[in-house]
Amino acid sequence: MTDPITCPECSGAGGQRLGPLFLACRFCGGRRVVGGEHEPAEPPPPPTSPPPAWEHRIWRNPAIAAALPCRYCLGAGQVSHVDADARTLVSVPCVCRATT
Ligand SMILES: [Zn+2]
Ligand SMILES: [Zn+2]
Repeated sequence: MTDPITCPECSGAGGQRLGPLFLACRFCGGRRVVGGEHEPAEPPPPPTSPPPAWEHRIWRNPAIAAALPCRYCLGAGQVSHVDADARTLVSVPCVCRATT
């Protein structure tokens, strides 16, 4: 077991804020740290959903990344998110439209 360290993926933020939503970091699972009792070598729980679209490997293609205006909403200006607790589909303005 190693000492817990601040998650290198989210820099300890635990995830990414997207308007009113908070998307938990997929590396630390929102715990903000890795290691310690949460040793990454332990098998993570199986994913319940495919990775977010903006983590898709297609974004490693710089031509595609440059051609689309926003990797979150693809220019639609809205991002949809399933609220598992409320069992509702929530649509929020994308971060690319929130800074007007
Ligand atoms: Zn993290
Ligand atoms: Zn956007």
